[in-house]
Amino acid sequence: MKRKEVNSTRMPVYRDSGFELYNAESTKKAFAGETEHEREPEQYIYSRYRNPTVVSAEEIIMEKEGSDWALLTQSGMSAIDVALSVFQRGSKTGPWLFFSEIYGGTISYIEWVLKNRRGLDIHYFNPDGEAYNLGELEKRIVALKPELIFIETVSNPMLIVADVTEVIRLAKKYGSSVIVDNTFTTSILYKPLQEGADIVIHSATKYLSGHGNITAGVICGNDKGIMKAAIEYRKFTGHMLSPDDAYRLQTHLQTFELRFNQQCRNGSDLALLLEQSPVISKVLYPGLKNHSTHCNAVKLFGSRGFGAMITFDFAGKNDEQKRKRRDNFIEFVSGQIKLVPTLGDPHSILMPVEAVWGYKYHEPGMIRLSVGFEDIGNLKSTISKALNAIESEG
Ligand code: PLP
Repeated sequence: MKRKEVNSTRMPVYRDSGFELYNAESTKKAFAGETEHEREPEQYIYSRYRNPTVVSAEEIIMEKEGSDWALLTQSGMSAIDVALSVFQRGSKTGPWLFFSEIYGGTISYIEWVLKNRRGLDIHYFNPDGEAYNLGELEKRIVALKPELIFIETVSNPMLIVADVTEVIRLAKKYGSSVIVDNTFTTSILYKPLQEGADIVIHSATKYLSGHGNITAGVICGNDKGIMKAAIEYRKFTGHMLSPDDAYRLQTHLQTFELRFNQQCRNGSDLALLLEQSPVISKVLYPGLKNHSTHCNAVKLFGSRGFGAMITFDFAGKNDEQKRKRRDNFIEFVSGQIKLVPTLGDPHSILMPVEAVWGYKYHEPGMIRLSVGFEDIGNLKSTISKALNAIESEG
């Protein structure tokens, strides 16, 4: 069939597994070119290597992130695998330092894959109460000399905002590379690459796609050497995003700023509402002045917002009452706010902290809320009714 130019305003979905290479000479040239690992290849060969629809979605993310390159993967975890693996140098790999308050799946990956299977020298840096003591971090870096430091800007589920800018400064002072998981914050609130981070990763499953119907990850950076290593690693391990998902991600990205800014506004409003309830003992939201790391949030995010994650705790005479109030709340709001184990969806969703993170946080009345971009009036009314009902139950 003769191909015709179509005047579409969009990059189409190229589902081709392999692309036509015409003759032996151009095939040789295409494969030779591929080993150069240019960000956008001159000739597409095979979709596990590179795909035009995926490259097009990557370009949109580069613009948002202000990065020289972005590489999409099939999940946030595969982005983490790519980001970390490019720093591995077989038995010559030095110690790596991870902030302890990071996504549980990342901790499992560190323990199961990096430590148990790959035998890497892994260390954790723990918070001092409700914040990180960066004086201690400096001592730790001096003593350990880590090759790599891995941090999340906002921790999960306690929402500690790390002074990532200072962490990057310390890391660079002592020659460590830095990877930042910026999933909760997004490039709207903070851009770690501008502060000197080597790599930023996101679970694009969350705010970047933002509709709860794409599983994807992205790794962004400015260093060309890291980019080439990451392209190679993604190709050989097959961590490539599918063209269909890349196409849908492109569409969802068109509303990213609208969605996330609204989510931040809703988050601020709800945090204030929750704080006023006598049945709630604690509201963790970086935008609240009494939050343990509010000043880090102001330093990093300025006036752009404070994110859309809120963790709050029900008051109670004992654990049993706290649990009962938590369960009643989940039931009362279930028509509008569902219990779904993800975050960044269009609608607000929640998770009971003890049921998910009970191995670490024994907080029977605690709930983590991912605030959506739905109508704030409805949201406030649903939550107020639930809190009033719980209060009247005594
Ligand atoms: N990073 C953070 C902060 C997360 O919350 C998650 C998942 O919840 C991931 C990474 C992993 O992302 P994915 O589930 O897309 O693999």
